[in-house]
Amino acid sequence: MILALTSTGDVLFAEVIPMSTATSATCPECEAAVPLKGDVEKGEIVPCPDCGAELEVIEQDPITLRLAPAEEEDWGE
Ligand SMILES: [Zn+2]
Repeated sequence: MILALTSTGDVLFAEVIPMSTATSATCPECEAAVPLKGDVEKGEIVPCPDCGAELEVIEQDPITLRLAPAEEEDWGE
């Protein structure tokens, strides 16, 4: 475990994960660290564990996330 202090004084807990198998990226919605598999692929949708937003991987190096487009469930038939 790594203890890291943010500027706001919150203590964040992060597991030590080998780079080759897992990584993390920052949620664009709430700025939480989103854990990702090391083999995550561009275009993959991952949920933010903190705010529940669906995030799309738009870059792999470095891994960049953006809010996934909301699914249109109502097609207005
Ligand atoms: Zn989030």
